[in-house]
Amino acid sequence: MNNALEKLSKYLKLESDRRYDNRAVLGGLQRMLEPWQEEARKEQLPESLIDLVTSRLRDYGRLSPSSRYEALRGLWTRLRENYPDLPSDLLRAPSTDPEPAVPPQSSPATAEPPPGDAAILEPEAEPRAPRAAVKAPPVELSAPLTEIQGIGPKSAKTLAKLGLQTLGDLLWHLPRRYDDYTQLETINRLWYGQEVTVIGTIEAIQVREVRNGRMKLTEATVSDGTGSLKITWFNQPWIARRLKPGRAVVLSGKVDQYLGHLTMNNPEWEPLERRQLHTNRIVPVYPLTAGVSGKWLRRVMHSVVARTAPHLPDPLPDSIRRSAELVPLSLAIQQIHFPDSWERLREAQHRLAFDEMLMLQLGVMRQKREWEALQTEPLPVEDAWITSFKERLPFALTGAQEKALRDIRADMSSPRPMNRLLQGDVGSGKTVVAAAAAGMAITNGAQAAFMAPTSILAEQHLQTLRGLLPSILEIPVESIQLLIGATPEAEKARIREGLDSGDIKVVVGTHALIEDPVTFHRLGLAVIDEQHRFGVHQRAALRAKGTNPNLLVMTATPIPRSLALTVYGDLDLTLLDEMPPGRKPVETQALHPRERLRAYSFITSQLEQGRQAFIIFPLVEESDKLDARAAVDEHRELQETIFSRFRVGLLHGRMKPEEKEQVMRQFRAGEIDVLVSTSVVEVGVDVPNATVMLVEGANRFGLAQLHQFRGRVGRGQAQSYCLLIPDTEDATDNARLQAMQSTNDGFQLAEMDLSQRGPGDFLGTRQSGFVQLRMAQLTDLQLIEKARREARRLFDQDPELHMPEHRLLAEELERLWTIEKGEIS
Ligand code: ADP
Ligand code: MG
Repeated sequence: MNNALEKLSKYLKLESDRRYDNRAVLGGLQRMLEPWQEEARKEQLPESLIDLVTSRLRDYGRLSPSSRYEALRGLWTRLRENYPDLPSDLLRAPSTDPEPAVPPQSSPATAEPPPGDAAILEPEAEPRAPRAAVKAPPVELSAPLTEIQGIGPKSAKTLAKLGLQTLGDLLWHLPRRYDDYTQLETINRLWYGQEVTVIGTIEAIQVREVRNGRMKLTEATVSDGTGSLKITWFNQPWIARRLKPGRAVVLSGKVDQYLGHLTMNNPEWEPLERRQLHTNRIVPVYPLTAGVSGKWLRRVMHSVVARTAPHLPDPLPDSIRRSAELVPLSLAIQQIHFPDSWERLREAQHRLAFDEMLMLQLGVMRQKREWEALQTEPLPVEDAWITSFKERLPFALTGAQEKALRDIRADMSSPRPMNRLLQGDVGSGKTVVAAAAAGMAITNGAQAAFMAPTSILAEQHLQTLRGLLPSILEIPVESIQLLIGATPEAEKARIREGLDSGDIKVVVGTHALIEDPVTFHRLGLAVIDEQHRFGVHQRAALRAKGTNPNLLVMTATPIPRSLALTVYGDLDLTLLDEMPPGRKPVETQALHPRERLRAYSFITSQLEQGRQAFIIFPLVEESDKLDARAAVDEHRELQETIFSRFRVGLLHGRMKPEEKEQVMRQFRAGEIDVLVSTSVVEVGVDVPNATVMLVEGANRFGLAQLHQFRGRVGRGQAQSYCLLIPDTEDATDNARLQAMQSTNDGFQLAEMDLSQRGPGDFLGTRQSGFVQLRMAQLTDLQLIEKARREARRLFDQDPELHMPEHRLLAEELERLWTIEKGEIS
């Protein structure tokens, strides 16, 4: 029989076996037309027959399965009139034959070969969801793999190497990527480097030993009527036993060349008559481990997915599925593993991502509800108190600060503990708001604890609080104390005593505060500054120093509202979206490295006006040690040459805490003119007289961090400048540096950064107590908003998820949301 006809008959047979679902060829039978016509013409098939095939197949996809059968039957009859040798029983009617065309294997488990062996094939019948569903056993995601039909103890053991123990583990073992082998091509049209699928016949095949038998090459010649192709498989001699000459195969892989001939090395292959898993489709590529072959796992996956996915119960109620326009879970699972098209794959990914995001939202909503049920001592203040507090400030509060104060006052005077996130760009004045909250606690006889990520920052807060609170509250300065790692033991002991007796009203510190066994007389307020620097456990530990104390967490990280509501959805949100008046936006300029001297002379002119400058250096984050050394060298160099007339200070992470503080104190006091520093200076430091921030190697930093650096200047009345110098000439065009020049708005930058680098920078360890997101991206604001909308509705309607249609959701939530109570904030 001629090749073109043989190929056509194979496709039609496959199509018949598949009950005319038009998936024998990925993308539909019509996809094979063009290469087929070419082959048929080469073999001089009558043009009339080629036309007939073309006209029947061109619109095949638009027909119903029964009309498809009719169309193919008509076609086949005509072909047989011309070629009586063609089989008469090729096509079967779709409806008269309820049994699968391929008989299901009785017990695939017994036929299970070791992984890596290609001998297990045809593991299962076609999944025919609607019909089979009637008798389907319930699918328990927690079922151990050994209980799943088709997986024997040996396979289960192999799968356990991948950490897969249950059906749920297996179904959620998602492909790491997909190979696109949907490009079907005739051999004469191949080009070097193409990823392609070829269908042809084995002309010859043999195994050859090379390198003294240490390597076995299986070499085959495959032809398809348009040409022939050499195939080589390395060290898989058994292929030659399975692929005999004359056999039709499907090969997928990359086209290579050898001595001027096109070849394929180690292509994926399958006999043509088999349903294609590894070739001629979008092929899933799974994460593997030693001893598990990709082909074996794919086959196991396919068998299990086909068997179980159609019967997966969907935890989403229909109403949500409809309003969020999501595909059913069973379909999503099938398509995420064995997609029929990229479009289907996207739908499946979207569905799974939505589920994750919904769980995240439901989790934070539930957490919030639990917190709202807690009780604490109310800490109310009179209007007069507020008025006198404000009168003693050296400045008038901004509208945003006023609003924040009102929010906090309402929280503090209520019997349920405050859980508030105060979010405001660098320099927006969060500290004074927190100080007011501390004042409210102290007035009521309670205590306050401030935790900051660095001792520099803690020291700075100590000064602010000592400058404000004693006069307002008529308390001694000594009732506000600093507790950091470097605090001498004797002093720590005194602080412990004072906190326990209640003599000390406010303690400011670093994580040393929670590591120390301090106990409070009555902790009424816990403030956490730059909260993204702390882990969930550290925050919980501070909170645990009191009995349901009020909690105020502060962040300068501007994240889009929808994201904040997701990740901080358990907290109430106050935004400081207004800068204190008189601030001039920092002028930002990206310079070329060769313009460095210009930058230095600009700094000199500022210093001559009595201003101060930061030089952030160098910008390699890889190693603390390297950073320190580079900063040390640079510091010496600058002090001895460019800035010899000025006092140049040095700050880096390897210095002792008291040394750092000493330097910071000097800088703040104006005893240092230029501060050369590594990125330790990044957070919160407030020196209003500093007007220049020079960042070296600026291209290495993310936007969030650059914005933090820039926030160190422009905090006083004078015009301030931020100079960004990348470490290579061409990096001056760096998109982030351009973005920094284009706006001072932290929110805009945050959104850009989020889309460029993902949320890691922003959220810090916040996520660690959360559901692991595998599919969903925290950068996908549309998805977040959609999930949030649905979660809100669900929650309003049935907050405890007690309704029967929410039972599966409730179970899922329980399973995924594993953090202990009070562990996020
Ligand atoms: P951040 O929000 O970055 O923590 P800070 O609380 O450190 O900002 O405040 C930055 C600077 O602005 C401080 O020097 C502070 O005294 C000053 N400041 C705060 N609020 C106001 C205001 N309403 N008017 C003028 N200056 C203010
Ligand atoms: Mg601050």
